[in-house]
Amino acid sequence: MNRVLSEVDPEVAEILDGEMDRQQNCLVMIPSENYASKAVLQTQGCIMTNKYAEGYPGGRFYNGCKYMDAVENLAIKRGKELFGADHVNVQPHTGTQANMAAYYALLEDGDTILAMNLSHGGHLSHGKQLNFSGKYYNAVFYSVDRETELIDLDHVRDMAKKHRPKLIVVGASAYPRILDFKDWREIADEVGAYLMADIAHIVGLVIGKVHPDPVPYCDIVTSTTHKTLRGPRGAIIMCREEYKENLDRAVFPGVQAGPLMHIIAAKAVSFKEALEPQFREYQAQIVVNAKALSKSLMKEGFRLVSGGTDNHLMLIDLTNKGLTGNVAADILEEAGIIVNKNLIPFDEASAFKCSGIRPGTPALTARGMKEPQMEIIGRMFNQVLSNTDDTHIRTQVREEVRSLCREFPVYENLDQWQ
Ligand SMILES: *Cc1c(COP(=O)(O)O)cnc(C)c1O
Repeated sequence: MNRVLSEVDPEVAEILDGEMDRQQNCLVMIPSENYASKAVLQTQGCIMTNKYAEGYPGGRFYNGCKYMDAVENLAIKRGKELFGADHVNVQPHTGTQANMAAYYALLEDGDTILAMNLSHGGHLSHGKQLNFSGKYYNAVFYSVDRETELIDLDHVRDMAKKHRPKLIVVGASAYPRILDFKDWREIADEVGAYLMADIAHIVGLVIGKVHPDPVPYCDIVTSTTHKTLRGPRGAIIMCREEYKENLDRAVFPGVQAGPLMHIIAAKAVSFKEALEPQFREYQAQIVVNAKALSKSLMKEGFRLVSGGTDNHLMLIDLTNKGLTGNVAADILEEAGIIVNKNLIPFDEASAFKCSGIRPGTPALTARGMKEPQMEIIGRMFNQVLSNTDDTHIRTQVREEVRSLCREFPVYENLDQWQ
């Protein structure tokens, strides 16, 4: 670890060493996590953290912003190129704050939004009662179909006609299938609603052209930058020219003050990386790996929600294994496999226990793993979860995970995608 830090603060340095060891020697399969490149990490830790730059390039409320303007303009230029968007705001600190700003730009308090049910794969910030979005807006939710476990657009259309939302939100945290935004635009137009896509999870796939593109069809598109995009922890918003002023005012001074300039600099770096042809190959491999993993899991007797995946993640329904998601995730962690528990559609277990887990392939793919490793990992899931009373098997799989991880060192093989 960094020598300055280990001298100044050995306690934190030791914790960081532990976390580095965990990231290197575990299978990181949480689909919203990834390994940022070394260039992104370096920029995220840079001196731009020292500067206040409230406002936007050319119109700051602080002096001394020459280099802040330069880096934010570069991030905006690259962001526009990457997404083919009229306008990009690179200041949102998080995905949730990006959504807050998007609502703030388009809606008044009390307006109705139509979004995906959280327990069917939606996100907290799409109107969940405990979140600001459920407090300030009247949220109604569409669900997936009980039989197919897919979003049924006729149901979405019916909900839209019944509730006349001012905004329809399309996007999810735990939906393993493709979202075709063209169809959603039609529904929004039928009821005169705005259409917003939240592509926090699938943004990299969209850039890599292995998932349909929302930008031509949506009024506003929000995304995180730290998930499949592999940038710094943060977010970005794309919108049509006509909402530009409203959106910028909604971000600052609407929901944020000083932008995190070191993060914006790191966003610029990650956009440059995402514009390279290797990034497309990386995204295509994420999807190939997810398909390979889902095939292996199904061969091992696991039931996948909707019968498989078209993107970077899958939802395993553990009901037939007699396990709940929380128990399965804890047991897998003992074997060095990190996944999170997740509700499945129409789940009968509580949100604390859950009936499912949600593995994904972005981080494994970033370290260079391919189909043969996915096959092996599917078998490991079964070994561990079909023998939950056998701690010896877990210890054995833990060793296999370690040696697999040694073959794919995180911060060496990463460079192949840059
Ligand atoms: C991850 C995610 C977000 C927001 O993430 P933050 O943790 O607030 O950065 C927003 N929407 C969806 C669909 C997500 O999956």
